[in-house]
Amino acid sequence: LVSRKSQQEDTVITLPGDVTVGGLSSLMVAGPCSVESELQTRTVAAALQKAGIRVMRGGAFKPRTSPYDFQGLGMDGLRILREAADEYGLLTISEIVDPAHLEPALDYVDIIQIGARNMQNFELLKAAGELNKPVLLKRGLAATMEEFLHAAEYIMSRGNTQVMLIERGIRTYEKWTRNTLDISAVPILKQESHLPVLVDVTHSTGRKDILVPCAKAALAAGADGIMVEVHPDPATALSDAAQQLNIDEFNTFFDQVKASGLYK
Ligand code: PEP
Ligand code: MN
Repeated sequence: LVSRKSQQEDTVITLPGDVTVGGLSSLMVAGPCSVESELQTRTVAAALQKAGIRVMRGGAFKPRTSPYDFQGLGMDGLRILREAADEYGLLTISEIVDPAHLEPALDYVDIIQIGARNMQNFELLKAAGELNKPVLLKRGLAATMEEFLHAAEYIMSRGNTQVMLIERGIRTYEKWTRNTLDISAVPILKQESHLPVLVDVTHSTGRKDILVPCAKAALAAGADGIMVEVHPDPATALSDAAQQLNIDEFNTFFDQVKASGLYK
């Protein structure tokens, strides 16, 4: 079902407020790594609205490497995200890690994110496949294209056709970036599948100084959208403090991406 052979035309996913993913226009998804407080989330939401962003991300269930690290605010985080988004006319995207949280999350999120660590959590994929809600599926930490597309197939095979793929870097021997951004994944996924393809420049690089060229490369390679993390005060962030942009940095980043002419 995910393959270009089964459907020739690009899938275009329509979100509330006539926001589309795939097709002719690009989508910039931005927001904090984690929802930390009402003030933090509303501050980002206000800045995103001002910049013309339509979709805000924010993690509430955080899949952290260490059990002692901040685990996210859970359902409270989803509520805070929804309220801030509604106040500023934004749509929401947030990661769900437990199938039992999918149904309760439906009131709070417009796009369900399945994170890299859960790309092959097959029960979660199947449960997401039962929903009538767009799903953003992240590429696994070391997933091949075939594994990635099979994971998307799990969702689609249960009836949910609103699936978006996102390249977020893979693990290699290279240490100068957090992960290795696999730019070739973009044209391969676009060729093999009709689903929208995004690129997460924050988690793939883990460094702020190369986000503009990486976002441009992603769009030039055919990506339908970009994801980037934004926090009012990254130094104090409860997760991914080193890699989130502050609001000024985000505005400069977005201006430069738009100025490239690659962002449609
Ligand atoms: C995220 O986007 O919040 C995240 C945890 O990313 P990934 O699953 O790609 O590591
Ligand atoms: Mn993060």
